[in-house]
Amino acid sequence: MASKEEEARRRHIRLHMEGALTARDKVGVQDFVLLDAHTSESAFVENLRKRFSENLIYTYIGTLLVSVNPYQELGLYSVSQMELYQGVNFFELPPHVYAIADNAYRVMCSELNNHFILISGESGAGKTEASKKILQYFAVMCPMTESLQVARDRLLLSNPVLEAFGNAKTLRNDNSSRFGKYMDIQFDFQGVPVGGHIISYLIEKSRVVYQNQGERNFHIFYQLLAGGEAERLAYLGLERDPQLYKYLSQGRCAKESSINDKNDWQTVSNAFSVIEFTEADLENLFGILASVLHLGNVCFEEDAQGCAAIPDTHEIKWIAKLLGIYPSVLLEALTHRKIEAKTEEVICPLSPELSVYARDAMAKAVYGRTFTWLVSKINSSLVNKDFTRKTVIGLLDIYGFEVFDKNGFEQFCINYCNEKLQQLLIERTLKAEQAEYEAEGIEDEECIRPGHATDLSFLEKLEEKVGKHAHFQTRKLAGPKGRKRIGWMEFRLLHYAGEVTYCTKGFLEKNNDLLYRHLKEVLCRSKNSILRECFLVAELENRRRPPTVGTQFKNSLSSLLEILISKEPSYIRCIKPNERKEPSKFDDLLIRHQIKYLGLMEHLRVRRAGFAYRRKYEHFLQRYKSLCPDTWPHWRGPPAEGVERLIKYIGYKPEEYKLGRTKIFIRFPRTLFATEDAFEFS
Ligand code: ADP
Ligand code: MG
Repeated sequence: MASKEEEARRRHIRLHMEGALTARDKVGVQDFVLLDAHTSESAFVENLRKRFSENLIYTYIGTLLVSVNPYQELGLYSVSQMELYQGVNFFELPPHVYAIADNAYRVMCSELNNHFILISGESGAGKTEASKKILQYFAVMCPMTESLQVARDRLLLSNPVLEAFGNAKTLRNDNSSRFGKYMDIQFDFQGVPVGGHIISYLIEKSRVVYQNQGERNFHIFYQLLAGGEAERLAYLGLERDPQLYKYLSQGRCAKESSINDKNDWQTVSNAFSVIEFTEADLENLFGILASVLHLGNVCFEEDAQGCAAIPDTHEIKWIAKLLGIYPSVLLEALTHRKIEAKTEEVICPLSPELSVYARDAMAKAVYGRTFTWLVSKINSSLVNKDFTRKTVIGLLDIYGFEVFDKNGFEQFCINYCNEKLQQLLIERTLKAEQAEYEAEGIEDEECIRPGHATDLSFLEKLEEKVGKHAHFQTRKLAGPKGRKRIGWMEFRLLHYAGEVTYCTKGFLEKNNDLLYRHLKEVLCRSKNSILRECFLVAELENRRRPPTVGTQFKNSLSSLLEILISKEPSYIRCIKPNERKEPSKFDDLLIRHQIKYLGLMEHLRVRRAGFAYRRKYEHFLQRYKSLCPDTWPHWRGPPAEGVERLIKYIGYKPEEYKLGRTKIFIRFPRTLFATEDAFEFS
């Protein structure tokens, strides 16, 4: 007799199946491939809406998961929910992020191969939450040994630390990740999580020095001020009130009711200790944060010669103390620039505007590199050398395609990245399908021919643009007239998601990300050991121009693609239902945009052209053998023949399936649903 839990599970499945089959009008279909052929975008939106109004936030397109942010707790993430999804076949339960996690995990364990789960969507759509849910799923459900609990805790606690330094309140999301993140979770051959590795992409450094109305700087600054011990703040020369710091108060929302900085400080402090930060590390780290805040309050005046002067050196002294540099050297570096002539160095005074630029560049460089240091510090605590044979599941949490009224350098990089990832998805889906049909000896007559090729010319154009930045510069230097013309220059690119116009204003500065050499020298000689690791003297000796941000991003993107190409993919596409962070509000227009930007219709088309479901003969037979007297209770012949008998008996029509070498292919999940139904009531 089935246990109570098993019964509950079956009841749950049955209710769900009934929902899928009979109440379709009310709750929509749980897999978009079940919509009528030639589904329009409107039908797609309608299906999402029906489900969303029933609090069904997840829907599949084949094995891709579409998730709509509910902006409320729906009780979907309890341990009993996790248990429900453990080891269950994909189409047996309502779609869930746990199903994606569990499926990747089980395939990894049985086939000993590597996986990645790509989570994309626009800001506020729920990407980071989804990746946290997956990590928690592994932390709770995977087998665990006592000695590896520390590794698991570090994996979990790397999140609050990275979020403190890399997330901020924006208009779209109170906890917006301002960097892209790829995280490998490493498993030993028994499926125990043993370690991890994180790569970060394009941290938004400009936020350190400037925030739009209604937005904040990175959380950690406010947390430090709100929660830091009194002695620590005194040592750092900081006051509790964030309004006192220019870098924290430009957005006019330093105190945000939805965020409890004091509590978050506790979480982060605790995480620091588990991830093995020493007191010295923390002292250096907070010294850097405090210096950034002091730096923002440094003001410049114009002296009689029109050069920058610093009337009040109070902040300079604090920075010098905290970073272990000479105040006079810092002061000079902030107000002067070294220019290298043929044989000598000339020191020129800066104007107050250029001094402000130099000051902000220093703050951005210091913060940006400290963030990189933080990631590598976390990585060294996640390394596990005891296990050489490891398989991994990578989680990629990356900003989706973005189109605003004004699109600048950031959108350009983000959209470039999305273009590449979308291309990878379509290619991979097509290739995987084709390879499987071939291996199974199934002719691919009517399958997968995409309606239009992915737009390659975009990439060519893009490379041309990135390649041409030097050219832009020479024109910009041509004089005030030329500058004005360039300042207004725009270019247009055709993305898979539509046409986007980019404005090159500020492109060059952001791409070059210039930190005057003078300031670099100062930072290289700092006594703060983190900064010493971040600013290496070798960099000064290298006279070549450092690679531009665009080039660096391009390079890190190609290594990301290399990482992904060798792994089995799963996809989660996140959708934001409205701009107001409200539960139960379904904004049609906004959602249509996202369906387009996420390439969902294209994906549906590719998926539906082939077979939605496939299963090895023995697994299929094992599950459904009770439906046919010939195969129940045992089938002694080859599994393929058993399956043939079985489906003949339950009445599959020839157009509904194909039989491959080792698997049965079912064209639409609805065929399978019917079989599942029969099974549940048998
Ligand atoms: P993104 O990373 O895509 O920018 P987040 O994952 O940070 O977005 O989600 C933004 C906010 O939306 C979260 O802080 C949370 O309040 C809410 N949210 C996201 N996903 C869920 C979910 N599955 N259930 C409930 N609330 C969610
Ligand atoms: Mg995020």
